[in-house]
Amino acid sequence: MAMAAARSGEQEDDFSLEERYQRALTAKIMRNAVLETIVESLSMARQIEVMLEILFAVPWLARHNRGILFLVDESANQLILAGHKNVPESLLNQCARVTLGECDCGNSAQSRETQFSSTALHATHCAGLPPHSSYRVPLLFHGRLLGLLTVYLVEGHPYLPDEEAFLTAIAAPIAMALHHRLREEQLRKAEAKIRHLAYHDVLTGLRNRQSFDDIIDSVYQKLQKHTRRGNDAWQNSAFLAILDIDHFKRVNDTYGHLIGDEVLVTFARLMEKTFREQDFVFRFGGEEFVVLLVNLTEEQAFAALERFRQTVESHAFPQVNRVTVSQGAIEIKVNEMPGTLMEKADKALYFAKQNGRNQVRFYQKLVADGAIEESDFGTEDNVDLW
Ligand code: GH3
Ligand code: MG
Ligand code: MG
Repeated sequence: MAMAAARSGEQEDDFSLEERYQRALTAKIMRNAVLETIVESLSMARQIEVMLEILFAVPWLARHNRGILFLVDESANQLILAGHKNVPESLLNQCARVTLGECDCGNSAQSRETQFSSTALHATHCAGLPPHSSYRVPLLFHGRLLGLLTVYLVEGHPYLPDEEAFLTAIAAPIAMALHHRLREEQLRKAEAKIRHLAYHDVLTGLRNRQSFDDIIDSVYQKLQKHTRRGNDAWQNSAFLAILDIDHFKRVNDTYGHLIGDEVLVTFARLMEKTFREQDFVFRFGGEEFVVLLVNLTEEQAFAALERFRQTVESHAFPQVNRVTVSQGAIEIKVNEMPGTLMEKADKALYFAKQNGRNQVRFYQKLVADGAIEESDFGTEDNVDLW
């Protein structure tokens, strides 16, 4: 392997045959030990910790017992200090991020070649570290630079080809393990993204209809506990409200679809800000939103919806300025299926629209006041479902 110009004090190994055999055997055992960790279920941080433990258990390295493992941040073109053995705080800070091509470590990473620096030729000031020599070993997997292993040796330690050969050999399984963990991390992130996309609206980031189906189930179950066993899960009721922006078509027609989208996003943020954390807000599609208000009285539910109505009415939406919202609400009864609740809330919403918009209407109250007739959507005996 080509060595950097920084190498000095080069000398031949002066090991007996038996020592050579011992070293080769150790190298093989260590490589296998690293490979075996790949099948374990480890986080990236733990994987690095374990590999450094294995590495510094090698007798000649245990004597020095100091090193750093960097990962490459390709987007920033930097090394990130991801694990270390006995490195002082000051150096951890200095080397938290190292730009490729800068400092000894950055240079070695960029050159993609193992490099050795003797005490005398050490180019970089390493904060808090006594004079030392070092090996710096790029960690490559199928030609892709994944990281760098830096091993610090006591002052005056010479370059030994045997040591370089060992470090280069163990760099391969280390890089393979890093590659495996990186792939795992990528997969985890991709899965989380897919899950998020399945349950959230792309434009506003709110939960979507799919998510509603799951959450309403849990609401029923909590209400069920409350009504059946009287435990303290929820002392109060839960409400469902459909929120529909008034004359939204006009917003689109007057200001364009993009401004319309901005109104929807702002509206979603206002919902998140105005309703409590324990409530659930959804975008069902278009300019139609839903909120589930849980564990509160009818007065509190009405106050919350009315407060939101006022918040929207008084909010200065960019360009559009004034936007209003109509809301149809209903108390959730465990013997009514979600579809029935939605239809009844929609009926209350329709009433709000027909009677001037920009208002909150409760289904049960409209029925009690004789403003609308009790719907014959039917009630199902849900009680036995749980
Ligand atoms: P009302 O007060 O009766 O609710 O009137 P409206 O105009 O709000 O109701 P309508 O249902 O007639 O119009 C809804 C409009 O919402 C029509 C459609 O163009 C628009 N819309 C639906 N989805 C989106 C979207 O994602 N972005 C934008 N900008 N507009 C949308
Ligand atoms: Mg509308
Ligand atoms: Mg609508």
